[in-house]
Amino acid sequence: MQPVRAYIGIGSNLDNPVAQVQRAFQALDDLPACANIACSPLYRTAPVGGPPGQPDYINAVAALDTVLTADDLLKALQALETVQGRIRAVRWGARTLDLDLLLYGQMTRDDPWLTLPHPRLHQRAFVLQPLHDIAPNLTIPGRGTLTELLASGPLQAIAPLEPPPATG
Ligand code: ATP
Ligand code: CA
Ligand code: CA
Repeated sequence: MQPVRAYIGIGSNLDNPVAQVQRAFQALDDLPACANIACSPLYRTAPVGGPPGQPDYINAVAALDTVLTADDLLKALQALETVQGRIRAVRWGARTLDLDLLLYGQMTRDDPWLTLPHPRLHQRAFVLQPLHDIAPNLTIPGRGTLTELLASGPLQAIAPLEPPPATG
């Protein structure tokens, strides 16, 4: 099988979210049959939906080249969420790690277990912006180009996370 380029949306708002996202970048690179070929900058985002009073999220996107099937890749992502301590309680509740399969090549699929492209990606600045950072020319099947989607607004404001000041 030829490798497929897949994009993974990463989010965390519990237990040191920046470290959770960085650990997820490494874990994605370490997955069998996957190479993590790009990691976006990190963004800080106010929570959307879910119970009130959640901490802000740290969001990012990674690009993978994989020979896993889409189903096996989603299973691998869910296993990584569990390894990083995700507990599924309330919908859109706080979590240590959320890994969404945003795109698997240009595959389209309408299945509750795995919908492709991810059914809400085109509405979310915290997905569109980091995706654009690493793949500016991407087209989302059925939705148009990333540039069009980012310009179509209104989208939530998101803030790039400043790198920590250099020491020494
Ligand atoms: P959202 O999907 O709005 O970002 P969420 O990430 O909090 O919400 P989860 O509880 O992580 O939602 O996932 C709910 C279900 O969504 C999972 O059991 C999974 O099978 C299904 N799902 C469907 N399509 C996808 C996809 N493209 N990526 C990840 N999960 C998906
Ligand atoms: Ca999600
Ligand atoms: Ca998810």
